[in-house]
Amino acid sequence: RAKGAGRKSFHVYEANFKYDHVENFIHELALVRAIEEEEFELHYQLIYSPQQEKVIGAEALLRWKRADAGMIQPCQFIPVAEETGLIVPIGYWVLRKACQDWHRLKSRYDEGIQVAVNISSVQLSEPDFVERILEIMKEERVPPHAVELELTESTVIHDSQGVRQTLGLLRSAGFSIALDDFGTGYSSLSMLTLLPIDTLKIDRSFIANMNESLLSAMLVMAGALNLKVIAEGVEDAEQYHMLKALDCWGIQGYYINKPAAQDALQPVPV
Ligand code: C2E
Ligand code: MG
Ligand code: MG
Ligand code: MG
Repeated sequence: RAKGAGRKSFHVYEANFKYDHVENFIHELALVRAIEEEEFELHYQLIYSPQQEKVIGAEALLRWKRADAGMIQPCQFIPVAEETGLIVPIGYWVLRKACQDWHRLKSRYDEGIQVAVNISSVQLSEPDFVERILEIMKEERVPPHAVELELTESTVIHDSQGVRQTLGLLRSAGFSIALDDFGTGYSSLSMLTLLPIDTLKIDRSFIANMNESLLSAMLVMAGALNLKVIAEGVEDAEQYHMLKALDCWGIQGYYINKPAAQDALQPVPV
């Protein structure tokens, strides 16, 4: 059992632990070997700009195809990977693969496309995290400005001093930073002004409930703080057109495309 990187964040994880222990243990055993067995895959969801009428980003979403158990969704194994610290090597694998895929996404969609990679708090607290990911970028010949790192609100408020410092380093290296699932956590508005971030990803629960004045207020606030906004979970034309009218910077969701392997990505239907 890998005892490495999970330690610092264990108490954070524990609070969210709600999966069956036996199933977890089985996943844990199999996860240890999943990288070498080449059981991971990245699927992508495109991020579309209604103003520029082009694809501006693609979020990498991890999939685990267990030889003996079929496709396992991230909510079933990311928590296990975080608890065991296995998310650290898995996370480096994800970044490297996303960088390799970026070269093709760029020629297929747009020169300026950014690939978005989810980063767990456990990874962020690795002392050599910044160094290691810069090494990977160099090896894969991808400039940091082509990558947006997505962190959830709970990640950035936990240990905010250290996290803020690391985010600052990443940003000076050229990475963009996005606050994922915005609106579901506990970050205060004043905290937003302190965080070195570029983008807010509004959680899909706000899109599903489509309160126009609330969304409009969020977009105005983000604009005042110089933050870009990506709406997550946009599923239909009505939601898309309202967000477009509100001048939302990026649209992501089943309306644009369901997560798919790079080879299976369809043209954007808007
Ligand atoms: P997330 O980063 O917020 O990713 C968006 C999730 O919403 C994805 O779920 C995506 O499939 C789903 N989604 C996107 N559009 C729609 C829509 O229109 N309607 C609905 N109902 N759902 C939509 P997925 O792929 O199951 O990933 C779940 C979470 O797992 C991600 O949430 C992210 O927090 C985590 N995750 C995924 N890949 C990685 C990874 O490589 N590393 C880490 N640390 N976490 C990851
Ligand atoms: Mg994300
Ligand atoms: Mg999200
Ligand atoms: Mg999420």
